[in-house]
Amino acid sequence: MRACFGVKTQQLISRVFRHPVHPSAAVGWRLAQSRLLSAGESKPRPSMLKHLTFKIKATGPITVAEYMREVLTNPVTGYYVRNNMLGPDGDFITSPEISQIFGELLGVWILSEWMGAGRPKHLQLVELGPGKGSLASDILRVFSQLKSVLGGCSVSLHLVEVSPALSAVQAQTLTGGSSVESSSEDDPVFRRGETSAGLPVFWYRCLEDVPAGFSVFIAHEFFDALPIHTFQRTPKGWREVLVDIDPEKQNRLRFVVSPSPTPASSALIQPEERRSHVEVCADGGVIVQQISRRIVEDGGAALIADYGHDGTKTDTFRGFKGHRLHDVLSSPGSADLTADVDFSFLRTMTGGSVACLGPVTQKMFLKNMGIDARMEVLLRNCSDGPTRMQLIRSYDMLVNPEKMGERFLFFSLLHHSRFARPQPTEGMKLEDKRPAPLPVGGFTEISFS
Ligand code: SAH
Repeated sequence: MRACFGVKTQQLISRVFRHPVHPSAAVGWRLAQSRLLSAGESKPRPSMLKHLTFKIKATGPITVAEYMREVLTNPVTGYYVRNNMLGPDGDFITSPEISQIFGELLGVWILSEWMGAGRPKHLQLVELGPGKGSLASDILRVFSQLKSVLGGCSVSLHLVEVSPALSAVQAQTLTGGSSVESSSEDDPVFRRGETSAGLPVFWYRCLEDVPAGFSVFIAHEFFDALPIHTFQRTPKGWREVLVDIDPEKQNRLRFVVSPSPTPASSALIQPEERRSHVEVCADGGVIVQQISRRIVEDGGAALIADYGHDGTKTDTFRGFKGHRLHDVLSSPGSADLTADVDFSFLRTMTGGSVACLGPVTQKMFLKNMGIDARMEVLLRNCSDGPTRMQLIRSYDMLVNPEKMGERFLFFSLLHHSRFARPQPTEGMKLEDKRPAPLPVGGFTEISFS
């Protein structure tokens, strides 16, 4: 169906598109701060493998979720806690690092949802797992270009980040290094600062600590980093896959199947499940429940973008090191571990308390948000051959179905009232005179006519 996109959102898009490439966010892979984390790395690190083998010897085989949690977020040796994994020198590259256009279009989406919610006076932008801070920085640039649209709305940025090291990179990107760390471990805000435009920025270890209030939640490549439980259907019923020490090879880990049910295998498999291997991200389910509750109580919206599926895939747990696939059990802590996001599970976990849109492909979302029009403006304003090539290459990377275009999906949670017709203005009697609610950007095709 081709629907006419809300006029206001269309106007927002065309105002942002007037601006050329932002000088500080050159299109292409962003190299800024990629070395920031190596500075404090002179001390030898305790071995993750040793830590895991001690643990398994002491308590028996561990769940894949526990393995993933330790490997990625252990406060001393965790992969995210001590690495700068993003970019050409790291282990993987993400859409916000490929092109500024990505964040700009998300910025327009956020403003459009803020308008769709009746322009509340306060807007909390909450980003889960902000990486290098590039996405938030591109979104905030759109906010400052559209300052007059935001009017008197007070905007604040709230970042949920497990890695103190990455938070320093984010602070550099967003506040130019003027942020301060909290002196107390008990302070839920472990770092705070201000952008050059005077917007307050707060860092938290977990979502529970973010204050209540109208919020738009953004999670890009965050849910895929959360621990998953994996299960196998056996003649005796569902059994959980565990990680054990390989008895035949020293210092090697292996997968085993639990001989009896575990708490997770008893609780996490849906009765109607048809697959024979299943991955369940219980932590992701809890976070979606928290976001849904906040949207119901305080208003707002969430945009979750990740690679994933709608309850169809099996065995997606994998590792990445230096942009190549890596055995998930070998040299733990040296590579990223990830699993496709099961959007049907996330939808189930909302319990219908909020409206769910999608998942739609990244290609469809970005095209519906007007990426082609944005590209036209950028190319029209750019005469430098290599920069034009880079623009075209990064556009292709984002939307080509063989690259990120169909592998990445967009999913949104919205307050049910978002789909209600606005209240009639005084004196207006007829029901059908009330304007239809604004369509939700990205999930509906745009008509620029
Ligand atoms: N959103 C960014 C970065 C993706 S990498 C981008 O798309 O470029 C995953 C991010 O999530 C990192 O910032 C990592 O430190 C953070 N992260 C991973 N697990 C987390 C957890 N359990 N709680 C909070 N942040 C987490």
